[in-house]
Amino acid sequence: MISHRPAFLKYIAQTSSDPHALEIVKANGPYLIDRNGKRYLDLISGIGVNNTGHRSKRVVQAIRKQLGKYLHTMVFGEHIQFPQVRLASLLNTVLPDTLNSTYFVNSGSEAIEGALKLAKRGTGRHKVVAMRHAYHGSTHGALSLMSSSYFSDFYRPLLPEVYFADLNVMQSLDLIDKQTACVVVEPIQGEAGYIPSTMEFLSAIRERCSEKGAILIFDEIQSGMGRTGSLFAFEQYGVVPDILCLAKAFGGGLPLGAFIADRDLMQVLSHDPVLGHITTFGGHPLSCAAAYENLKWMVSDKLYERAGMIEDIFRTELAGAPFVEKITGKGAMLALHLDNKDRMQFVVSHCMGHGVMTDWFLYNEQAVRIAPPLTISKEQCKKACRILIGALERSGSEIDA
Ligand code: PMP
Repeated sequence: MISHRPAFLKYIAQTSSDPHALEIVKANGPYLIDRNGKRYLDLISGIGVNNTGHRSKRVVQAIRKQLGKYLHTMVFGEHIQFPQVRLASLLNTVLPDTLNSTYFVNSGSEAIEGALKLAKRGTGRHKVVAMRHAYHGSTHGALSLMSSSYFSDFYRPLLPEVYFADLNVMQSLDLIDKQTACVVVEPIQGEAGYIPSTMEFLSAIRERCSEKGAILIFDEIQSGMGRTGSLFAFEQYGVVPDILCLAKAFGGGLPLGAFIADRDLMQVLSHDPVLGHITTFGGHPLSCAAAYENLKWMVSDKLYERAGMIEDIFRTELAGAPFVEKITGKGAMLALHLDNKDRMQFVVSHCMGHGVMTDWFLYNEQAVRIAPPLTISKEQCKKACRILIGALERSGSEIDA
């Protein structure tokens, strides 16, 4: 089989100097298969996308069915597209009453952009509070919410009046005042290495936002769609946001994002100016057909409950493993924090060599990502743990020698 590596490196824009450059020819369930026929147990789900596994029969069938009908017909919001209407109606049944109007987009960054605009328009304010070490996307607005100047400095000027609070530090909430349009939070902070918000912190943000008239935006782009043990992580906190952002696993493997709010708030985008937020491909019928089947399956079979089983196995099997300082996260969104970057890199590459795909985090170079598809079996989890432990043990002689 011809290698596509040279053309990949030559013609595809690169995001780093050392991409995985793994040539995947097929993916099934929790497995990726490369051009040499080697199978990898996927512990990262394409970074939080394949929560129901790769190419599930149900989702593929739904895509095929829609393929026989129509693809793109008109920009979002003009034609009545049944796949969109059906998906938004299903969302309405699984979300709190106040999250009843869905604006479909194509990605996580776009969901954040839409939510920011909606908050500004809805409040007439423009001050934004975000959390330090959060990641909300790479477009200019979403990038403005990134506290790390290493990532953002070259791209200034960014959105003005963005202030950073510290996750789980109550005093930071003083930043939220009557000039604040919105506060953006990931209930489980992703790229810092899966750090959950505390109950106390999220409740206090909710209270402070309501008191000051600021809009609370939850970014559940990574923590949503069953990953943490409930359909959305916020359900475990008993705190309802004013705007919910979804993407990644929402599309069942196809590109789809959404920001969801109350109809009274959402309707401000339709007037003064008319077409206040528009998108050509947002809510593509193929993506919505896949997302509907994916969500229906997740809800009917309570796939989100499998996250607890996955968490138990990884926490039990990896308890006491060498060089593990702590395991953070919730459900199937876990981070194995090691003592240094070299060890993390060794573990990730040793695991790859032994057929387990894992990765690190954007802002945390000592942690290993464990976020497998929810459909992974107990035996597959245990196998992954054995390989992780083998990698950790081996790292002792390889990098501490
Ligand atoms: N928010 C969170 C929490 C994310 O993890 C990501 C992607 N890693 C995004 C937003 C941006 O999503 P996208 O890459 O689809 O624009």
